[in-house]
Amino acid sequence: MTATLEKGLNSFKEVIDAPIASFFSSCVHCGLCAEACLFYTETGDAKYTPIHKLEPLRRVWKQEYTLLGKLGKMFGLSTAVTDAELDEWEPLVYDSCTLCGRCSMVCPVGNDITYMIRKMREGMAASGHAQEDLVDATTRAVTLGSPMGIKWPAVLAQIKHVQAETGIEVPVERAGADYLVLMSSMEIINFPEYLSALSRIFKQAGVSWTLAEDAFEATNSGIQIGASDLAREIVSRIVVAAERLKVKCVISPECGHAFTAIRWEGPNLMGRPFGFEVKHILEVLDELHKAGKLKTKGKDKRPLTYHDPCQIARRGGVVEQPRRLLGEVATDFREMPDAGVMNWCCGGGGGVSANSRAEPLRLEAFKHKKGQIEATGVQTLITACANCRIVMEEGLEHYHMKVEVVGLTELLAEYLVEENAS
Ligand code: SF4
Ligand code: SF4
Repeated sequence: MTATLEKGLNSFKEVIDAPIASFFSSCVHCGLCAEACLFYTETGDAKYTPIHKLEPLRRVWKQEYTLLGKLGKMFGLSTAVTDAELDEWEPLVYDSCTLCGRCSMVCPVGNDITYMIRKMREGMAASGHAQEDLVDATTRAVTLGSPMGIKWPAVLAQIKHVQAETGIEVPVERAGADYLVLMSSMEIINFPEYLSALSRIFKQAGVSWTLAEDAFEATNSGIQIGASDLAREIVSRIVVAAERLKVKCVISPECGHAFTAIRWEGPNLMGRPFGFEVKHILEVLDELHKAGKLKTKGKDKRPLTYHDPCQIARRGGVVEQPRRLLGEVATDFREMPDAGVMNWCCGGGGGVSANSRAEPLRLEAFKHKKGQIEATGVQTLITACANCRIVMEEGLEHYHMKVEVVGLTELLAEYLVEENAS
């Protein structure tokens, strides 16, 4: 047995906590989780059944923690998990799961399959079987500060561009501001309109905010890959900056997994509660709207629909806020089937979008979203996650669909009454 395999199997044993053991022992093999997973529904391939993706972890559980399994191992009736098997399993764990959480919602015995897959990724990472592109992204995040290799000068260039366009100062390193604003690399590279929209909305609402030079990146590929130590290092940069600047709240950007990483996983990774709040940008915008500080004029006449990012809606509970905000600026809003907590994933969350090998499967999985969009008859698709946006734009292009994807923050800014702009 190689040293990394031994480390990985030990890690598998370690991650088999009481919930995991109880989940495996209570599975009744009903197959309902298969019907909830877009990788199964769009391919019909049984290997994409959620619980099946956990097979190596199940075998370690059986051999190490059940009487029959222990006896089988003792008498040579079962074989240990090997490096070759983990190699074979790696694409299943990293390419065909977006950690969307839909399977966990339907399991009749309450198995949190998504939690189990995350734990399985921890074992895969520890045994040296993490997906290559995610390893590279995580290395860049740790060494350079961002998974796409973006450094502060690139952010500064975008800030200068936004300031020139809007005439509004983008505050940087402002101690005592109420909010620390984070962004995702994808916004910095692909959607500079987010920072521009945010500046204009916050200017109108009189919000006190800042960016931090050493903590602008919200995404956390350490969580996606299953490496807690790296995930902790990435999260700690934000915590240190928020505490140094003494902000009251950190705003997670239009990015699904970043919200999970900082809001739900952050305190667990750090081993302590935060001395500041964490909110998704949609929660902040909804609060401003309720307080009468988000003033809009006119409404969008286009038929439009909203894609719920899984980590924001299902795993983050932000469902009503985007709909209230859309109600402010849309006249013809059409829900997709299963909208809200039972939404269907775009197919690229959980690191799948950063995984070049997964592209054909990702496009296959996108067929579910394609059908949902077609059912609404819209040509404008609103969302609140830069990763979903890129994945959907890729899918729409691939299937020759004439549908534009727009960020919700950006849409709101289009209808802003800019009475205070200067
Ligand atoms: S839905 Fe739950 S009980 Fe049914 S096969 Fe999947 S994990 Fe097992
Ligand atoms: S978390 Fe989502 S993508 Fe992963 S197995 Fe479950 S339903 Fe499928």
